[in-house]
Amino acid sequence: MAGGTASGTTFGSCCTELKEAMSGEEFEPLITVGEDGVLYMSVGLVELDDEEPGMVDHPVFFCPFCSKRLQTPEEVRAKTEAADNDDDE
Ligand SMILES: [Zn+2]
Repeated sequence: MAGGTASGTTFGSCCTELKEAMSGEEFEPLITVGEDGVLYMSVGLVELDDEEPGMVDHPVFFCPFCSKRLQTPEEVRAKTEAADNDDDE
């Protein structure tokens, strides 16, 4: 199960608002696709000891702009679990 690119789902195809929010040419995007292929939205900053402040990300299930369903909890769970399994190499 190693490798496996996150193809199949193209986030941002539902509306131009999401597409532009993800591309972020003039700003740091807060809605991004993670390495596991899950679409995440940053909801805040967290203070970490000895480190730069980190972003708190949560999976996005519905487009915040047009309300289209982007992914299901089952899909997110499957992707994150598959990514976790890749960590022990
Ligand atoms: Zn949309």
